[in-house]
Formats: sequence, structure tokens, C-alpha cells
Amino acid sequence: CRASSDEMGAGAGGAEAHFVFVPLMFQGHLIPTVDAALMLAAHGALASVVVTPYYAGRVRRTVELAMRRLSAGSPGVRVVELPLDCAGVGLPDEADDIDKIPQGLGKNYFRALALQREPLERHLRAGAQPYPTCIVGDFCLPWTQELAASLGVPRVVFFSMCAFCVLCQHNVERFNSYAGVADDGVPVVVPDLGEKRIEVTRAQAPGFFAFPGWEDYAEAVERSVAEADGVVMNTFSEMEQEFVAGYSAARGMKVWTIGPVSLYHRHTVTLTARGQTTAIDADECLRWLDDKDPNSVVYVSFGSIVHTDPKQVVELGLGLESSGHPFIWVIKNDELYGEAVRQFLKELEARVAGRGLLVRGWAPQVLILSHPAAGAFVTHCGWNSMLEAVTAGLPVVTWPHFSDQFLNEKMAVELLRIGVSVGVSEPLIFQVKKKDIVVGRAVVEKAVRSIMDGGEDAEQRRKKARALADEATATLQEGGSSYSNLLDLINSFKIVVT
Ligand code: UDP
Repeated sequence: CRASSDEMGAGAGGAEAHFVFVPLMFQGHLIPTVDAALMLAAHGALASVVVTPYYAGRVRRTVELAMRRLSAGSPGVRVVELPLDCAGVGLPDEADDIDKIPQGLGKNYFRALALQREPLERHLRAGAQPYPTCIVGDFCLPWTQELAASLGVPRVVFFSMCAFCVLCQHNVERFNSYAGVADDGVPVVVPDLGEKRIEVTRAQAPGFFAFPGWEDYAEAVERSVAEADGVVMNTFSEMEQEFVAGYSAARGMKVWTIGPVSLYHRHTVTLTARGQTTAIDADECLRWLDDKDPNSVVYVSFGSIVHTDPKQVVELGLGLESSGHPFIWVIKNDELYGEAVRQFLKELEARVAGRGLLVRGWAPQVLILSHPAAGAFVTHCGWNSMLEAVTAGLPVVTWPHFSDQFLNEKMAVELLRIGVSVGVSEPLIFQVKKKDIVVGRAVVEKAVRSIMDGGEDAEQRRKKARALADEATATLQEGGSSYSNLLDLINSFKIVVT
């Protein structure tokens, strides 16, 4: 089991800080990790990103294109390729691609990741010059804490989530808020949020890895966060300062907010290479958008994991059609649908030709959101998507499916006031479902219209979203908090020459 690493950019010469990022290879974790590595490189640090062979190809392409923007003096970003021992944990070799992990074998995948600790440590001891100065481990990979301890370097936790979400989750856990609450659907008030009154149910915020049989893993995750030397988050303080401060105080550790990391990419070529190869040609997509009025197009996507239920596809499609607004709808794994749904989509496409664009597969999301024609985002509230909407100054229709997405929805609707909810109040995937939930076409139409048809509330939401976008841009410029945090992070973990 050998690791290999290639270096891109001007070379590590002179770098005083070397951050080794160990991401979870789910797109919602990997994409912001790579962006964060690029951000640190742009500010003078060397960053390495450790990935398995399947993902190394993708990450290399993104990094190669994105690094053309780095100055000649930048130490650059290294891609460290580390094989995944699938066979050793009873997984087929193809499970290196997370979409191909057989159902019920998720735990084996996490075990295979943990087995990377020793080969990675050997590689970093022998091959990494300069020696790492900080391990940036995804919060889902508790073994990165032991890796750092063994190497004798600090470890910070990487959260591709917002401070509001992790603070709410931490508070309901440390204050035992669900104790004595028999039903998962009964709301409790999140404790210790200062003036803010936020209610959440156990179904919406059960805790990370709160699946039967994962108790030990969940405990290890919690322990490894508690023992870390700090936290790095893809968010920005100007948007949620009290929650950043609250989480830092509750954990007793420093929190570096360095987002929105997607702002590293400002050009079509690197935006198109972000994540994976797109199912639609970027120029074709831009030409389609160029034809539309400013703020007129509704972008609809549920991220990289959700595969929408067939009944829901039909209702969503009909709702978008009857809203009357132009839309781009991203449909993941279209090939898995039966003939009836595929036929429905073909007919819908014909009826809305010129007004509705269906992308079957991966879309250049940030490229679309940042086009002037984009007017709203119907989102599953994955944190990256939410932050990308904020960065683009777009109001959102919120449609959470699982994990932190319910808290992110509360952030958008109740706190930032840029969102309208479709009203889903319990998980649609991963957790045990009590009932089949299908959001009807009329609800979809109403939510889209309430964002797009104008009126005072809609105007307020749009204004708020634009103001947040200005703050998101400013935070990464000199004087902004994310800009200062990037420099402070590098200063905090550079080699001390005595
Ligand atoms: N994404 C994309 N094109 C797609 C689907 C997703 O570029 O067709 C990107 C999106 O911009 C975001 C990430 O994938 O950066 C998805 O992360 P998020 O946290 O929103 O949701 P998840 O996929 O983790 O559910």
C-alpha cells in the first residue's frame, strides 16, 4: 500500500506552513476541502490533499486548472494519492467510488478509510518535505486525531457546515435536550443560543452518525472534535458571528471561519472543473442563461447524494412547469428511473422547450448561480449549496432531505430571512422513514412563485440575500474576517524557527 504525491504550482520551497487535508470523499466534503487548500496556498502555505485513486483524478484536474491563478511564489497544492484497501474490509474494489458502496456496507467503507492511517503516516514521515505542520481532518474521520498525535503535530477539524448548525447540534447534546422526549417529531428549544429561540426535533437533528450500530463511531467523532486544536469552517463570521463565538466558547477552542471557499473560483474554466466533469457544456449553459432576463431563472438541485423519488420527480416537474418561470433542473442518476419517469421527463422537456433546461448528471452549479440571469435556488439545503446561494445573492426555496439540512433551513428561513420552506419536517433519506413524503406540485408552484413573483416579502428576501452576497465578497478581501482568519491560521501553524 504505497502513497504517491505530485506537486503542482511553484514548489514547496520556502513554505513555512504545510497543511495536510484529509477529507471525506463525499462531494459535499471534498469540494470545499480542495477549495480550502487552494485558499491556503493562495495565502502562502503549502497544502496537501489526501485522496484515494478514484478521486485523485478529479481533484488533480480541479487543482491543475485552479492553480493557474496562484502567484509564482505560491508553494502550491499537492495531491497525495493513497490506495483504499477495499478487499481488506470486504468491499468490492469499485467501492472507492462512494456511489458504488453496496447498501448496508457503509461502515466497511469508514473502516477502510481508517486503515489509511498507517500508510499515510509512513508517507508523511518519509516523503513529505517540509514535514506537516498541521493535519486538517474532516470531522467525520476521527482517526486523523491519532494520526496527528503520532506525527507530533496539531490537528484541526474541518467542518463543511455552518457554525449555527454545529452549535445547535452540540447544545442539544450537551444539555441533553431530548431526554424524556418520547417522539422524534416533538420540537425542543435549542438551549444556550442567547436571544435566539430555535426549535428542532430529534428527527431533524439526531446527531452525527446517529444510526443504529454506529454508536461507537459517533462517540469517536465527538471525542476527536473535543480533543482537537481548533476548528476550520466553510462559513464567514459577518453572517453568523454570534454562533461562531458561541461554538468557540462551548468547545473552548479557536474557530477559523475561512469561507465562502467557492469564491476561490471566479473564472468559467475553474468553475467548470470544480467537482467532476459536467453533464452539460459550460458554454452551452452560459448561452442558455445569456438569453434570459436578469434574476429570472430558478435553479433546482438537491446536491450530490440525493436521488429523488420517482413520484417526487413528477410532482416537482409539474410544479416547476406551472410556476411559469424559466428553470434549470439538475436530475441525478436519471438512468435509474423506470421508463414512465423518463418518458414524463422527455415530454416535460418538450413542453417547456426554451424555458426549462434539464441537466441529467453533474451541473456547473456555481457557474450557474453566479450568472446574472439566476433568480432563485430550490435547494436541499446542503451547506455548500446554501453558502453558494448566499454568495450569489439568491433567495432560496428550502427543501431539506437529511443531516444538517434542517438546521440550515432554519438558518435561511428564520435567521437570514432569505428562504421560503416547502414544509418538509423530517428526513427523506438515511433515517428510518415513518411515511412516504411527497411535496405536491401545488406546493412547489406556490413556493417558487412566492420567491419569484415579486411583492414586498419577496423583495425583502432578495435585498437581504444581496446584502449577504456583498458581505461574502468583502470577507475574503483585506480587512474581512475570512481573509484575516486565513492568515492567522497559517501563522498559528507555521514552523517556529528558533
Ligand atoms: N454540485 C455541483 N453540481 C451538481 C451537484 C452538486 O457543482 O450537479 C456541488 C455544489 O456546488 C456543492 C456540492 O456539490 O458545492 C454539494 O454539496 P452540498 O453540501 O450542497 O450537498 P451534498 O451533496 O453534500 O448533499
